[in-house]
Amino acid sequence: MASEPSAVERSRCLNCGFEAPGGDDEWNRVEVPGLGRMTQCPRCESTNIITGR
Ligand SMILES: [Zn+2]
Repeated sequence: MASEPSAVERSRCLNCGFEAPGGDDEWNRVEVPGLGRMTQCPRCESTNIITGR
C-alpha cells in the first residue's frame, strides 16, 4: 500500500513486544532440533515471534 513507510517486513516478539525488521541482525537465530532455524528475541530469548506483512 502507498501508506507503508517502508517495504521492510517487521517481526515482533509476542512475549515482550520487541520489534525489528525480519531477518535483521538484531534478532538472534537458534537451531532447534526438528524445527530448524528459528528467530529468537534478543531481549527475552523467546522464540514466540510473529513476522509482520
Ligand atoms: Zn522478547
